[in-house]
Amino acid sequence: TTNNLTELAWQKMDNLIPAIIQHAGTGAVLMQGYMNPASLSETLTSGKATFFSRSKQALWVKGETSGNFLEVKQVLTDCDKDSLLIACQPIGPSCHLGTESCFPEQGLSQQNFLSQLEQVIASRKNDAPEESYTAHLFSRGTTKIAQKVGEEGVEVALAAVAETKDDLLGECADLFYHTLVLLQDKDIELKEVMAVLQKRHNK
Ligand code: AMP
Ligand code: ZN
Ligand code: ZN
Ligand code: ZN
Repeated sequence: TTNNLTELAWQKMDNLIPAIIQHAGTGAVLMQGYMNPASLSETLTSGKATFFSRSKQALWVKGETSGNFLEVKQVLTDCDKDSLLIACQPIGPSCHLGTESCFPEQGLSQQNFLSQLEQVIASRKNDAPEESYTAHLFSRGTTKIAQKVGEEGVEVALAAVAETKDDLLGECADLFYHTLVLLQDKDIELKEVMAVLQKRHNK
């Protein structure tokens, strides 16, 4: 999907417009590059983010050598049409230095920590490192994880009526975490739950 991409302000900067690449799932900023008209149309037709390299003076498909492509989900322009915001599903790290984002420190400034945690939990399901409690939970299976969610729910209720605020915070954190593990175990994405909440909200 796109908003109106006709009549972009190409003339402002010698046929170049900055394109901010955002993770479609978490909203994290992954990288920034420049697009010219040809690279934008290539981006829209191929579905892979394609930039104009100022150093090489040539089109550059992100991932063409590394394989770390950016699958385009949404392209938006801003109020005065001199900037692009492109939501992508990254295939591998977006920074050529090997980090997921070119702004690896942005976690602190991000609202959506639950989505970040969801990704870490998902990676534990695939990697299953020896010392990981999350990997251990996955290995014990759905029934065990579901039981943990039930216990944590009860602990939240008990803490709310009989314990301190810190206890309640801790139990809520336990419940959120174990719920994310259960969703991951069931191959359900957090955004599917969010969609249910939003649908109810819109009524
Ligand atoms: P890639 O597009 O991932 O195959 O990488 C090819 C080349 O593009 C790299 O050697 C870098 O010069 C450049 N490059 C890749 N990713 C970035 C990025 N996130 N920001 C700036 N330059 C990049
Ligand atoms: Zn603008
Ligand atoms: Zn980078
Ligand atoms: Zn607990």
